[in-house]
Amino acid sequence: ATPVLELHGLERHFAGHGGLVRAADGVTLTVGKGEVVGLVGESGSGKSTVGRCAVRLDEPTGGTIRINGTDVTRLSRRALRPLRKDFHLVFQDPSSSLDPRMTVGQIIAEPLRLHGIAKGDAARARVAELLAQVGLRPEHADRHPHELSGGQRQRISIARALSVDPDLLVADEPTSALDVSVQASVLNLLADLQRDRGFGCLFITHDLAAVEFLADRIAVMYLGQIVEQAPTVELFADPKHPYTQALLSAAPVPDPALQRTRERIVLSGELPSPLAPPPGCRFHTRCPLAVDRCRVEVPELRTLPGDGGREVSCHLVADDGTALDAAAAPTL
Ligand code: SF4
Ligand code: MG
Repeated sequence: ATPVLELHGLERHFAGHGGLVRAADGVTLTVGKGEVVGLVGESGSGKSTVGRCAVRLDEPTGGTIRINGTDVTRLSRRALRPLRKDFHLVFQDPSSSLDPRMTVGQIIAEPLRLHGIAKGDAARARVAELLAQVGLRPEHADRHPHELSGGQRQRISIARALSVDPDLLVADEPTSALDVSVQASVLNLLADLQRDRGFGCLFITHDLAAVEFLADRIAVMYLGQIVEQAPTVELFADPKHPYTQALLSAAPVPDPALQRTRERIVLSGELPSPLAPPPGCRFHTRCPLAVDRCRVEVPELRTLPGDGGREVSCHLVADDGTALDAAAAPTL
């Protein structure tokens, strides 16, 4: 089947204070039909940029974006419009994406109207159905966003995004602005809807428990690049990249029965500026395992053997996926 989203060498560089910001720097990623791909990394790693480029909210400066096989990288706004029903983005903060002057019913019905899918009574019926699907009542249609809680507003932005039955949903930190007490219910809702409707999903988050719960596959970003990609189960069981190891070591274990014990790896220093990524391996300034070679030679993202299509970029991971001893690592 054609993947719903294919990013190839995606790049977004822009002029910032003090130079060129390399927010996304050669990201290659695929989301299959009905697949949930998690994109994780610290804030500033470029994951939101990738999500915004994927739906053409940010303009890429290089690489290609295909949605359902169609190259949309350079399509004009006008040419893109009819395709817009195939993909949607759900933001972190629903307040910023919901027009405060509109009623909930109007907000959810708007995409239906714009794409000529339903209007009048048919649209109202569809809105009621969507409200029920996201766990809200028909009366909510007459309210305005400010009369609702954060969790309810996020349910509405999900209902709006799904109103036109998109093939791809990009969800950028959809729960991180919500109270901890309602995060789980919104995640469960997303998981249920995804299972029922089978849309592909790029799920952007720094919440590792959430991504483990929702994603089939995970890509880990560091300073604008993917450093590791693997099926969720494999990534959590055996992270290969030192950065992934550090990230996961800090994550709470959701199920103590798993007895996943990991030594906590604390990274030294801050995420370097995307204005001037370190030479060689971009992670070398913080990597506990860095060797001389890491400071000079860029590690390629290599595919490891196996069915999972695991990828990793680290000089200390051998071609068969085993960890190399720093002392035994091939040098330049
Ligand atoms: Fe660390 Fe070197 Fe591997 Fe980069 S290439 S992650 S610096 S060991
Ligand atoms: Mg972000």
